[in-house]
Amino acid sequence: MIKYHPADDLLYAHAAGSLPASMSIAVAAHSEMCEACAKKLALFENQIADEAFGLAEASETPLDSDNLLTAADNDEFAGMLTAIMNDEQMPSTPISPSPKSDIDVAGERYTLPTALRRYHHLGWSSVGALSRARLPLNEGDTRASLLHIGMNGGVPSHTHKGTEVTLLLSGHFEDEHDSYVPGDFIILDSSDHHTPQTHDGCLCYTVADAPLHFTKGVSQLLNAVGHVIY
Ligand SMILES: [Zn+2]
Repeated sequence: MIKYHPADDLLYAHAAGSLPASMSIAVAAHSEMCEACAKKLALFENQIADEAFGLAEASETPLDSDNLLTAADNDEFAGMLTAIMNDEQMPSTPISPSPKSDIDVAGERYTLPTALRRYHHLGWSSVGALSRARLPLNEGDTRASLLHIGMNGGVPSHTHKGTEVTLLLSGHFEDEHDSYVPGDFIILDSSDHHTPQTHDGCLCYTVADAPLHFTKGVSQLLNAVGHVIY
């Protein structure tokens, strides 16, 4: 069962469309896997729509006889609306996600959540049991990646100089704090030190805004690992 969820303010910001793409993907993908957050998201979306409508109403100047549209204007407006609604140019079917949503990494096949489906063609770099594919989002120091850890693999003990969001998409991993299941949405900052390990292998979506800082081990090897992960 999923234990770790995005906070309400993140869900709200996603519903309002105010998150950067990297975080928006994390929240959307989690909500695909989590019924509770999908419900909250729908509530926030309705709330935001209501608020937008309320503001639009409040800003309208009250109508008096001088401001009233003439019957002709009304007809024209209604005609325009009908034309828009009937416009043959409008897409009549919803845009369907790419049918190719599976990715193959390190001999395993995974199906990506809808929020990530357009990124099934990424190039992977690997070191040891770790493979990473970066999403082409161009958000400066913030980097979004798919991270795969092969069976019985792990990430050496580290902290984060900045913030790291991990959404577990498939498989399981555990660290000093807990063990995680698909859908878990984990936020760590520089005060968190951890050593993730997986038995069955796992695929994660990660968003990090700074390189990892390794707390133990041989720095040259770890720098290579850090380069792959961040
Ligand atoms: Zn949730």
